[in-house]
Amino acid sequence: MTSHPFPEHILSLPKAELHLHLEGSIRPAIVTQLSARHGVYYSEDEVLRRYSYSDFLGFLDAFKWVTSFLREPRDYALIVEDLAQQLLEQNVVYAEITLSVGIMLLRKQRPERNFEAMLRAAEPFESRGLKLFWIFDAVRQFGPDAALEVVNTVRNSASKKIVAFGIGGDELSVPTAEFRLVYDTAASLGLHRLMHAGEVGGPEKIREAVELLGIERIGHGIAAIHDPALMDLLADRRIPLEVCPGSNILTGALAKQLSQQNATIQDHPLPKLLRHGIPVTLSTDDPTMFHTGLATEYRNAHRMGLSESELRSLIQTSFDHAFALASAPNHR
Ligand SMILES: [Zn+2]
Repeated sequence: MTSHPFPEHILSLPKAELHLHLEGSIRPAIVTQLSARHGVYYSEDEVLRRYSYSDFLGFLDAFKWVTSFLREPRDYALIVEDLAQQLLEQNVVYAEITLSVGIMLLRKQRPERNFEAMLRAAEPFESRGLKLFWIFDAVRQFGPDAALEVVNTVRNSASKKIVAFGIGGDELSVPTAEFRLVYDTAASLGLHRLMHAGEVGGPEKIREAVELLGIERIGHGIAAIHDPALMDLLADRRIPLEVCPGSNILTGALAKQLSQQNATIQDHPLPKLLRHGIPVTLSTDDPTMFHTGLATEYRNAHRMGLSESELRSLIQTSFDHAFALASAPNHR
């Protein structure tokens, strides 16, 4: 634990956000507006009550509840505007935003129509200095066929703004190997490959993601701390972990990984992973649902004992591993 004060100027530096879910970023006032649009009224206080939970299942319930108000393209446009505003306020200049296309398909929506409205909503923010790109995301427990349908929606949207395909959800459900065809198809479309792994699952989930599916950045990946050989592999191959400390506390993922019920932010393995030479980026995951933001996460990292130069390295790493800033394999 460092005794140095937090270097406030870190907050004003331009940043890239690489692990951020659109549907987990809706502010309570916007939820009130969306629900009213669809005939129900929830006050902001009521939304805040729904945004509090004691475990991962409670969080998933709240996520399902809030996404139930996303029914039309204009609903998605509204939340994109809200998120873009939040990002500008935090000095984010580049973001790859995860979009739960798996949920849209489950609800029998037409993702390409939603996505068109989202792109239009994002346009005015681009001219204000915010570059937005998208990750189409499938839900692991829905299985490989549903995930392949998500990949196929990328063909219909045919936008260069879609930079990657990812899978989130319950990593203990469907075995990793079953998604081989899905990721091969994604790669053939020029998409980068992402997966949530080692959040609540063990280090083998991370290794499988890398070795079986060619995953290029790992969502969370904090379970790597249990496997020194895996830590070497991530460091040697320069495979980043997108670490989201506030999320890990609220979902109970950190407590689970450490087998320590009252694990606090100071117990987080981020410093060990970083000092092992693994590229680490810092993100907010579902910021409004986890009552966090980039400023809070940089303060969290400082409370773990990171020096100012280490905090700066987190910022730099997110730019270094941003897909649309690197030489992209994107030739759709
Ligand atoms: Zn996530």
